[in-house]
Amino acid sequence: MPISFEDLRSSMVADQLVQRGIRDPRVLDAMSRVPRHLFVPAEAVPLAYADRALPIGNGQTISQPYMVAVMTQALALRGGERVLEIGTGSGYQAAILGELAREVITIERHPELAETARVRLASLGYQSISVIVGDGTAGDVGVPYDAILVTAGAPRVPESLKAAVADGGRLVIPIGSYGHQELTVIVRQGDALVESVHESCVFVPLVGRQAWPDS
Ligand code: SAM
Repeated sequence: MPISFEDLRSSMVADQLVQRGIRDPRVLDAMSRVPRHLFVPAEAVPLAYADRALPIGNGQTISQPYMVAVMTQALALRGGERVLEIGTGSGYQAAILGELAREVITIERHPELAETARVRLASLGYQSISVIVGDGTAGDVGVPYDAILVTAGAPRVPESLKAAVADGGRLVIPIGSYGHQELTVIVRQGDALVESVHESCVFVPLVGRQAWPDS
């Protein structure tokens, strides 16, 4: 019998996520459900559940499943949150967030990627996810969010994003050099921002007013 996408997804969750220490059952559940093969270009479908990032066009990538799980787990979502993602890319991470939170706003600087993700998410029935075209570091991103996830590598934490974290809320962002970052988690406790540094990662650059310049 041929291996189904569902089988590949189960193996991905067991071998790449559970074995490496992802424990949040809601995150594991969401990643067992979302059809990752529908978020990659046709030529990449055979590799959709592989342990790696994949190209999605415009020089961008859909992140490795493990990194999606680590970042999502770090947000500690319980279901009622309003979440902001910077870096829609394929829309896969937004779909995972959509499974776990009340509302997701996701911003993408490449209009073509944003449009593809918007159509894809709508066709999969994700009504609580809004895709916006723009620079997610350009300034005011609206009322405070319970959780903010940046899925591109930044040289520092953009001030506008720090300001947009609600009290008790979290900001997860890869911080470091152009080619190598550390996953950084910031929790707001009143006026204080408590920062912790987690694992190493490699993301495409966050390009924008409060990030890397467009080269
Ligand atoms: N979350 C995506 C997914 O699930 O496919 C993967 C994101 S990809 C690693 C990073 C994305 O961030 C790219 O699509 C890139 O165009 C976008 N990006 C980079 N800088 C940005 C900015 N300032 N504002 C919005 N999007 C940005």
